[in-house]
Amino acid sequence: DKMKNIRNFCIIAHIDHGKSTLADRLLEKTQTVTQREMQSQLLDNMDLERERGITIKSHAIQMNYKYNNEEFTLNLIDTPGHVDFSYEVSRSIAACEGALLVVDASQGIEAQTISNLYLAMEQDLEIIPVMNKIDLPHARPEEVADEIMDMIGCDREDIIEASAKAGIGIENILEAIVERIPSPEGDPEKPLQALIFDSVYNPFRGVEVYFRVINGEIKKGDLVQFVNTGKTYNADEIGVLRLTQEPRKSISAGNVGYLISGIKEAKEVKVGDTITHKDNPCKDIIQGFEDVKPMVFAGIYPVDTTEFEELRASMEKLQLNDASLVWEPETSAALGFGFRCGFLGMLHLEIVQERLEREFDMTVITTAPSVEYHAYLKKDEEKVIVNAPSDLPDPNFLDRIEEPYIKANIITKADYVGPVIGLCMEKRGELMNQVYLTTDRVELIFEIPLSEIVFDFFDKLKTISKGYASLDYELIGFRASKLVKLDILLNNEAVDAFSAVVHRDKAYDRGKKVCEKLRAVISRQQFEIPIQAAIGTKIIARETIKALRKNVIAKCYGGDISRKRKLLEKQKKGKKRMRQVGKVEVTQEAFMSVLQVD
Ligand code: GDP
Ligand code: MG
Repeated sequence: DKMKNIRNFCIIAHIDHGKSTLADRLLEKTQTVTQREMQSQLLDNMDLERERGITIKSHAIQMNYKYNNEEFTLNLIDTPGHVDFSYEVSRSIAACEGALLVVDASQGIEAQTISNLYLAMEQDLEIIPVMNKIDLPHARPEEVADEIMDMIGCDREDIIEASAKAGIGIENILEAIVERIPSPEGDPEKPLQALIFDSVYNPFRGVEVYFRVINGEIKKGDLVQFVNTGKTYNADEIGVLRLTQEPRKSISAGNVGYLISGIKEAKEVKVGDTITHKDNPCKDIIQGFEDVKPMVFAGIYPVDTTEFEELRASMEKLQLNDASLVWEPETSAALGFGFRCGFLGMLHLEIVQERLEREFDMTVITTAPSVEYHAYLKKDEEKVIVNAPSDLPDPNFLDRIEEPYIKANIITKADYVGPVIGLCMEKRGELMNQVYLTTDRVELIFEIPLSEIVFDFFDKLKTISKGYASLDYELIGFRASKLVKLDILLNNEAVDAFSAVVHRDKAYDRGKKVCEKLRAVISRQQFEIPIQAAIGTKIIARETIKALRKNVIAKCYGGDISRKRKLLEKQKKGKKRMRQVGKVEVTQEAFMSVLQVD
């Protein structure tokens, strides 16, 4: 039985609890990498991921481990650690039989620990609890052990104490992987059925597809079909991932591998899809496939309007390796030609903006993000999808507007329950449940409109809880709300890029604050600039930016060249991410201020 000595596992943890560090230690201990090859956080190999200390794309790596003189193959399937990528987490978890649940011995259980644990339990994974960072002087091993036992119903001796940093407990973890995680089930004789749990874009070789074979066997050269997309490919190269890709002739049931077949675009490959043989297809497809949908929408515009085509080319290239990025051209009266883009969440948006600037040298303005609204017309209940406030139909024809709601799971210290509930209520949230995990840690479940949390909710939550609160959420559906479009007029002209869909009860307050904020962030110019907020034709707030009296350069008399140059340089810098709207110059900050008001 080939499968007896295979173990497929993942590591699930809240961010910063030590997942990447532990993965590195496992690779070292099994001599998958030599000391020389070892660079810290091997699995996070994109620059941006390293800098931000997050794992965006999941990868898989194979190790050999000798246990009681028997050779075992351990496949570590890495999972992304951010709520924006939770669907990818669920698919990589589905490729495993077991999970290391890593909990920081000083922090205890956090929101992502729980949400990932639930995903793992839904897939019936064997959970191996690992209490990491026991080397820390402020570790609270007994309290944290209690939390873990309460949560997964294990015994104290099931919990492995470890320090990924100091190399403590690593051998115990490897032994537990072999002893506790079941070997894969599946039938190598059945028709091929493999789960795609990840893909990576490689500009030279095309898209690399990572898969787990459930049944059957895939051989080099096979004609395979991706069931959900219907596309057929030749398996030009298959292999396993170690430090580098190692080609193999075949990969059979229970194992994990990669496939290269000249696929040019990331969007051709859908995580969760099933791979089978074209000529001898499997009867069932693997359950749980979802087409990932963007949750957050924003306009991206070139700062320099002549760079529109260049921006388009950059977006196309970016999309080749980011399947979850969607966009279409959009015209704004204020900003001209640009793109309406859909993102998985705010982190994804930030990453896209940063990559456009770093990898493609584009300077872009991003308009305030919004969620997708469903507007229903009075006539025939016709549904209109609203991805930009300007898409909202005339209120006279509207029956209702629905907005996406999420279920938010927040874990905090008992001391901060009051402020956290206060914040969530202010965000139109409804408290659904409150559970004490221990005497000092509370889990709060809220239902909240997505629009209220996409922007800076998380930062606020961190602030009011002094860092002792974590958040995870999932979409639960669309619900009718009293929503209106709030317009902002700059110099008497409505600026479509400033419009926002807001709750009616908050519109007045919001309008007033946006005007105040804009007055503060838009610099004075040669003329007076009125800023107004309006609902329909009704003006609800007004501020004025006074005219500038003198030109800055005029102060320098022309004598001091270097001072003049410095000033110009400073102005130029300020121009980065600045757009001319009508006669007024507006910064990126101003565009975001539409949401950043309270
Ligand atoms: P991840 O976000 O779960 O991948 O966490 P990382 O592996 O990036 O670790 C987050 C931080 O915790 C890093 O600064 C690590 O050096 C540190 N860290 C990880 N494991 C340990 C440990 O066992 N002890 C201590 N003291 N620090 C650790
Ligand atoms: Mg990491």
